Amino acid sequence: MRKNLKMLDELQAIDLKLDGVKGEKEAFLQAMAVLEGNVAEAQSGIAERNAELAALEEEKQGLEETLAAETENIARSEARLKEIKTQKEYQAVSKEIATAKKLKAELEEQVLQKISQFDELKGEIAGREENLRALEENVDSQKAELQANIERLEADTVSDVTAREAAVKSLPASVIRRYSLLREQRKGLAVVEAKDGYCLGCNMNLPPQLYNSLFRGDDLITCPHCQRMLVLRQEAEKG
Ligand SMILES: [Zn+2]
Repeated sequence: MRKNLKMLDELQAIDLKLDGVKGEKEAFLQAMAVLEGNVAEAQSGIAERNAELAALEEEKQGLEETLAAETENIARSEARLKEIKTQKEYQAVSKEIATAKKLKAELEEQVLQKISQFDELKGEIAGREENLRALEENVDSQKAELQANIERLEADTVSDVTAREAAVKSLPASVIRRYSLLREQRKGLAVVEAKDGYCLGCNMNLPPQLYNSLFRGDDLITCPHCQRMLVLRQEAEKG
């Protein structure tokens, strides 16, 4: 059991290291997702404005069509004016022409407004596209760095994973099951040191008899307070 306990303690040291590596890797992946999110956000901002641009273009075309129709109306009315015989009809058509000309001027003003809005938006899009290119370049290099970090972490843990497999194989399956369950329930710590009569996992005083029996190292002894497996590390070093 003493040998098993030492092996279990070593297994936990490896697992704690692997937990740390996993946390680091997740942080890198998260940082990568943030970068990708920034790019996606910039892209959707541009797409939104391009849609606005298309809508403006359509509105402008609609106005131009109305304008062309109005111009035609005016020309037709003006031609009619020359053939009119009565004063009353002449006045009515003249009034029509005046109203149509006013409308035409308004339409021309609106078309100009659309053109200026269009140009402004186009400029904004060009600026955003330039920013996006710079962002993409920046993100690409940051992502490459993150990816290299992830690969380095993975390479660093190859030997730990092998050592872990060997440790697991050398211990009884029931012990491994208990160890795994405890690690899940006790924040990753299944094996803790007992020192000076205390469990260092929960800092509670251990019954003297139980503490003393640890020195014999015959059984797998657990803390009565936190249920973790107790190990005497100093003793283990000596042995
Ligand atoms: Zn305890």
